[in-house]
Amino acid sequence: MFKTIGCGAAVAVLLCGVSTAMGAEEQVIRAVREVPAGGGGLYVSNREPLQPSPLMKLPIGSIIPRGWLRKQLELEAQGMTGRLAEVSHWLKFENSAWADPQGKGQNGWEELPYWLKGYGDLGYVLKDEAITKAARKWIDAALNSQDADGWFGPLANKTGLKGKPDLWPHMVMLNVLQSFHEYTGDERVLPFMLKYHQWLNGRPPEDFGNGYWPKIRFGDNIETAYWLYNRTGEKWLLDLARKIHDHMARWDTDVIDWHNVNIAQGFREPGVFFVQAKDEKFLQAAERNYQKVTGIYGQFPGGGFVGDENCRPGYSDPRGGLETCGWVEFLHSFEMLTKISGNPLWADRCEEIAFNSFPPSMTPDLKGLHYLTCPNQVQLDKNNKSPGVQNGGTMFSYSPGAVYRCCQHNVSHGWPYYAEELWLATADKGLCASLYAASEVSAKVADGTTVTIVEETDYPFSDTISLKLSAPKAVRFPLYLRIPRWCRKPALKLNGQEVAAQAEPLSYLVVDRTWSDGDRVALQLPMSLAVRTWEKNKNAVSVDCGPLSFSLKIGEQWKRYGGTDAWPELEVYPTTPWNYGLVLDEKDPAQSFTLARKPGPLAEQPFTPDAAPLELQAKARKVPGWRQDGTGLVSKLQASPVKSEEPVETVTLIPMGCARLRITTFPVIGTGPDAKEWQAASMRPSASHCFGGDSVDALCDGQKPASSNDHNVPRMTWWDHKGTKEWVQYDFAKARKVSAVEVYWFDDTGKGGCRVPESWTLLYKEGNEWKPVENAGEYGTKLDAFNRATFKPVETTGLRLEVQLKTDFSGGILEWTVE
Ligand SMILES: [Zn+2]
Repeated sequence: MFKTIGCGAAVAVLLCGVSTAMGAEEQVIRAVREVPAGGGGLYVSNREPLQPSPLMKLPIGSIIPRGWLRKQLELEAQGMTGRLAEVSHWLKFENSAWADPQGKGQNGWEELPYWLKGYGDLGYVLKDEAITKAARKWIDAALNSQDADGWFGPLANKTGLKGKPDLWPHMVMLNVLQSFHEYTGDERVLPFMLKYHQWLNGRPPEDFGNGYWPKIRFGDNIETAYWLYNRTGEKWLLDLARKIHDHMARWDTDVIDWHNVNIAQGFREPGVFFVQAKDEKFLQAAERNYQKVTGIYGQFPGGGFVGDENCRPGYSDPRGGLETCGWVEFLHSFEMLTKISGNPLWADRCEEIAFNSFPPSMTPDLKGLHYLTCPNQVQLDKNNKSPGVQNGGTMFSYSPGAVYRCCQHNVSHGWPYYAEELWLATADKGLCASLYAASEVSAKVADGTTVTIVEETDYPFSDTISLKLSAPKAVRFPLYLRIPRWCRKPALKLNGQEVAAQAEPLSYLVVDRTWSDGDRVALQLPMSLAVRTWEKNKNAVSVDCGPLSFSLKIGEQWKRYGGTDAWPELEVYPTTPWNYGLVLDEKDPAQSFTLARKPGPLAEQPFTPDAAPLELQAKARKVPGWRQDGTGLVSKLQASPVKSEEPVETVTLIPMGCARLRITTFPVIGTGPDAKEWQAASMRPSASHCFGGDSVDALCDGQKPASSNDHNVPRMTWWDHKGTKEWVQYDFAKARKVSAVEVYWFDDTGKGGCRVPESWTLLYKEGNEWKPVENAGEYGTKLDAFNRATFKPVETTGLRLEVQLKTDFSGGILEWTVE
């Protein structure tokens, strides 16, 4: 995956227990790799025969978020999620099929439940009565819409897939009802959900493998079935869950779909089913899926992967990114797997996205979002960047509007769900600080005594976490403190006294003692600077400090291009240079940076360049050849180390979560014999037409195909033009002498509609005219090979390859070289 420099390998510290006599009671401080599972906790946990739960969610409302996290929630309430009905026609109550008692009407697909899933929880977490009441109106409508057979909501979905039910939108609405029940205990919910699941259980098995979205995302419904089983004990729900697992797309076998949101929520399915299967291989399958995707497409900081709609072979440069739906679904998956596995790695991964990648998916006021958040993203304009990113149209600019229809609604649950997972109950009747953030939690422990813990911290912008406990009486329970993967030497104080606390990275420190009212815990998680080298991304590097990754600070110019005063659509342009390579201390790269902390209290909204609580100073040189391409995308990284004759400058790096314009994955400047020249684009490819999923860059990306039907290398196709005359062209930066070309044709016989062309010719540019080359040899159309054509040498600024496509077929090229 990647090399850690400066942080070293994990230090082999034995997990140890330290016991201190405390009168009759003994205080035990120990470290565990995972929270142990067990029965008999104080909160809803897995019933037999399911795998016992190590960690359990506290009832929504038990945790009051504070600090920067509360500010995100308040901004969300005042921003897009809280006022989305002003800009989204999918949320019009009148005529909504989600609001009608018979399920008739419009807009009955995923949008309303996507939004309500986070909107309701936003109200519960903030204890905001207006939001809770507005959510309740929709929830009551859903609860009042159930048919005698158990179906509810939009009737059209019942036959939405060629007469078969489209079960996907209901999976989201079930999440809405789960939260509503957790917060209110409303007595209608469980019978209602049972009745719907009875209907579901009556479906023929093939209904669970039907449709594109449902069959891939049905793991969501398995989680809901367990949630319902744990509250009702209805054993047939487990039969239903198994039936769904058996017939849905099988994520336990492999990564079976490469759509980014499908991955972000689908990859976890075997981990969810593990609680029923009780076989570790299912939990491991979720990890394998995660590793497989990020191992290819996630080779940069921030916790995401390049899935700018779908993952595409050859597209793994950090100029690509993840959809906002992908970020929130990944967060939700990691939160789920934390509780199922008791493994702190999932909580670490959750923080990685929450601190580094999720905040810049939105404007600082949370009134707009964009579709794609990428690790290297230097200009957020509204223009088409396809096929550099897969979709055409605007993907980078910020909008509250329907242009980002799914994300616009689905973004809602990111922060509320996160706030609900800060603290978890443990199976041994204690509490676990799972995700660190300023907060107050009230929960039952031990014999059922309710204790309150106030957590004060600026984490992740500070390494110190202070806990103060209130309890009506002395009570013994274990307190689990997560030790992140980057922390080698945690330090612990109890009531001001230092205590021995040895724990390896990626473990839990357990303080098991009799706690008294007013007890205080101070946990320090020292953060050190580390440099990671991304071998699979051209040996580029990134810089971390604890859970924070860093970006170059780039000046921002915000421009409104649409929307209204209340709901503007915005572009962001760079006002300062960004094309830097880092000059690193070769012996100890982490020594290349100096860290400064902004004095004074943390800004309420710290995720902006100016409010950035931390800054790094670094040495860098510009790489003049590293530019934006014709679509405004940052051009791809080239192999480090790279040469630069530019002067050494001091540049500022800020936390990646504060940077909407960002370079996080840098070339490294080299001076030795291995340093390479940055190849400025010497020729620019273009085409008469290129399919949105393909790329003209594929023509000269240097990737040699295995065959003409090779789908694992990028290609350029004229799809869906058939039988037409088409061309591809190279424009040279300066005139050059050329005498031969080689063409590797794409032909997907057996799979699709592309064939080698009927014929082709080669033209060169003279002035503004295109002329045929002379003495041309054969213009070949062989499969599975380069077709070489030689001609009388010409000095020219451009070459054009003209083709006549076969009747009724399209065509394409995998690689085109020029000599
Ligand atoms: Zn989306």
